Amino acid sequence: MKVIVIGAGLGGLLSAAKLSGAGYEVEVFERLPMTGGRFTNIDIKGYQLTTGALHMLPHGPTGPLAQLLEEVGADVTIKRDEGKAFMRIFEDIDNNIYEDLPFGKFGKVFSIWNRIKLAYFMMNTRRNPPRDCSFAEWLSKHLDEPLAHQMADSFCGWALSLKAADVPVEEAFEIFENLYRHGGPGVPIGGCKAVTDALADVVRNNGGTIHTDKEVSEIIIEDGKASGVIIDGLKYPADLVLSNIGHHYTNDLCKDVQSDEEYKKYQNKIKIVKPSAGVKICLAANEPLIGHGGVLFTPSARRVNGINEVTNIDPNLAPQGKHLVMAHQTTQWDRIPYLEDEIDLGIKDLEEIFAGKDYEVLLTQSYYNGWPVNRSSSGSDIGNTTPIEGLYVVGDGAKGKGGIEVEGVALGVKNTMNLILG
Ligand code: FAD
Repeated sequence: MKVIVIGAGLGGLLSAAKLSGAGYEVEVFERLPMTGGRFTNIDIKGYQLTTGALHMLPHGPTGPLAQLLEEVGADVTIKRDEGKAFMRIFEDIDNNIYEDLPFGKFGKVFSIWNRIKLAYFMMNTRRNPPRDCSFAEWLSKHLDEPLAHQMADSFCGWALSLKAADVPVEEAFEIFENLYRHGGPGVPIGGCKAVTDALADVVRNNGGTIHTDKEVSEIIIEDGKASGVIIDGLKYPADLVLSNIGHHYTNDLCKDVQSDEEYKKYQNKIKIVKPSAGVKICLAANEPLIGHGGVLFTPSARRVNGINEVTNIDPNLAPQGKHLVMAHQTTQWDRIPYLEDEIDLGIKDLEEIFAGKDYEVLLTQSYYNGWPVNRSSSGSDIGNTTPIEGLYVVGDGAKGKGGIEVEGVALGVKNTMNLILG
């Protein structure tokens, strides 16, 4: 059986590693000169910045991605700074007076009545998950506490690059369930690149081939079945095609079936798949700004949703004695034309949060359109299949339920492998 994978991002490489390990003949085509997609490192002045992610696996060494990496034999070490997630609540921002609340105790600042209600909901929602509204609407109905909304926006902005108003409540509670089940984030030693390079090694060791600088221009479809791809005018035949580029771009490559009435139902279905956008601000620090390897959520900030300092787990991600700090903020699509203003607001936030600290802004990066934070924002995923037999979509354009970012990529790949391998 011959499989072609379009794209050498995390989703494509995970799938290629799994299928090559199961005896399939695998060929991966990547249009860029390097592998890893939005999950690899860029060296700037000795700091290991990235093409996308913040060097964090949302469920660390015990999550779905870690399990899948182990299953395919990828040699990656993932470390977690246990219990290190805080919400920074400013009491007096001008005088830099704040409290860092442990993430699990965020309700501490609410009124007694709201704390009682919160305890009740935390128990009850696990048995009866709420549905049919957004997470923000659900909060408004049940918890009259402005800070709770800021906290929800901070968590959703950091973890999903969405506002709480854009996350379906079912998906939010599925995510919380996964947090209970698998725990909080961890950092792969060596950063994102260590993960995608280890997967590329597995693919090659299993006899698979990875081509870079090879852009797929069309998926060949014969009698309703995917039978290969076209690159630079040449046909590459295959029994299965896995696309790592999301449903929308995959649809663009299915040129022959665009006018087919049955296929148009799929084109209508994919309209609900919406990417999420965001901005990352990378800081080079001469001292620890956070002091731990977890997440600092920033509900009081104008734009920044959360910050990490991965060098507390892997010091080699920065030059000796320095720290790499990354701040993330979601960006609403109507603000994309005003990205510079959004970035300025984020930088102002950081000036307040780290007042008096010794750091400089190394790089600001924005993510939207073809290089977004997520190809399918959480809750808008439509699954891994297409109406074309033998054509599957993997990666963050088709995540598994309740899967934050790359954990969702792993869950989606697992679903796809179950469909292919049984
Ligand atoms: P991609 O990495 O986009 O891979 C797709 C590949 O396909 C690309 O390499 C692309 O070049 C290639 N390609 C496209 N078209 C073609 C074609 N026609 N032919 C051949 N190749 C093609 N996730 C986390 O878990 N933790 C984080 O801390 C985190 N932080 C993030 C912060 C930011 C700012 C961003 C942008 C993302 C973050 N994410 C994070 C999300 C994570 O980076 C993505 O979910 C993940 O990298 C997606 O991998 P993928 O394989 O689905 O897609």
